[in-house]
Amino acid sequence: MEKLALYGGEKAKKTPYPKGKRFGEEELKELKEAIEQNTLFYWYGNKVKTLTEKFRAMYKVNYCTATSSGTSAIHTALGALGVTSGDEVITTPLTDMGTVIGIICQNAIPVFADIDPYSYNITAETIEKCITDKTRAVIVVHLAGRCADMDSIVKLCKKHNLKLIEDCAQAYLAKYKGKLAGTFGDAGCFSLNDFKQISAGDGGLVIMNDEEVYKNALKFADKNYNRLATTVDEMRAVHFIGPNYRMNELTGAVGIAQLGKVEAICKRRNEIGEKLNNALKDIPCILPPLTDKEDYCTYWFYLFRVDTKKINTDMDTFVNALKAEGGSFAKGYITEPIYSYPLFKELTGYYNSHVPFNLPEYGKKISYPKGLCPVAEDICANTVKMGINEFLTDTDVDELIECIRKVSEYFMEEK
Ligand SMILES: *Cc1c(COP(=O)(O)O)cnc(C)c1O
Repeated sequence: MEKLALYGGEKAKKTPYPKGKRFGEEELKELKEAIEQNTLFYWYGNKVKTLTEKFRAMYKVNYCTATSSGTSAIHTALGALGVTSGDEVITTPLTDMGTVIGIICQNAIPVFADIDPYSYNITAETIEKCITDKTRAVIVVHLAGRCADMDSIVKLCKKHNLKLIEDCAQAYLAKYKGKLAGTFGDAGCFSLNDFKQISAGDGGLVIMNDEEVYKNALKFADKNYNRLATTVDEMRAVHFIGPNYRMNELTGAVGIAQLGKVEAICKRRNEIGEKLNNALKDIPCILPPLTDKEDYCTYWFYLFRVDTKKINTDMDTFVNALKAEGGSFAKGYITEPIYSYPLFKELTGYYNSHVPFNLPEYGKKISYPKGLCPVAEDICANTVKMGINEFLTDTDVDELIECIRKVSEYFMEEK
């Protein structure tokens, strides 16, 4: 038995992580052009318009609107689709807060459906169990670039007349049965924050096919000013509140350059993820994510489950042993489902109040107890998140596999 690095042995990851450069001449060129426009306002300049046009064409949809973040992209989609006070919106508890902030800001109520243990995504079955007469919309998250089972989800939403939003913040260019994630529902939302496949520092994109949804989204993200109007009076004839979620030209400029790189980035991440799937499926205590052959997974990170019945140690020790081998490993994507956050325990959407949970429009009592989504809780506790990126060489990937093989064999053997 090889001695674990945790107990003083040699590390399995011997080469240091490569330091790739995400930004360069392409971004500088676009930024220079943006500055030379002498305006950084999206409606006067060309960068945000070019970015949304390129993204729209890449996704072969009718419309795209830019926003200031992934969170604001989702809020914009909800606002544009008319989700409002007293509505319930079904989503996953294994996600970023950005998925649910917009729901609560619209004074709607997040309802959490459980996830599938092999895809880590919500399913038509788990969503259906949560549908009530208050349900207005579903936000599907394609976690870590792995698509949810969209055929059955689309069918379910049609049947119950629910709006469908896809949170693609982690899923650039991911495909379900050959079709791009983000093109299945009423709106697809993307993030350009610094940790996603591509980054413009911060930023967001919403894609959709319906003209009215587009017009609503364009207005919603811009204080509900109607930029498409022909007169200023008409432009300022504001009917509803809208935040200022505008993207500026500098962000748009970086976004254009990053969009030129997204295909290669996703291709490399896909290769790495598939290689890991293949290698890890033969280790008895490791359950890699299951992906369908027809799907294309763009692995924002790599999440694998540990069959804890097959190891003779606890998850914390297992993960610490992995970390000691020199790889980027952590327990869970998040360590608990988001409904365990104090906001959901205390039902405090807004500081100093219980809005929206106590609104008369809602008129129901909701709570988010432990045990609400048992699979999600189990996944948080018994999975390992492995950081991957497009700069990893084949040697890096082999060494990371070796970290997992070595630690797994050690803790399976002793039993
Ligand atoms: C990152 C992320 C968001 C939020 O995006 P921001 O740009 O950080 O606001 C929303 N949903 C998911 C699944 C994310 O990973």
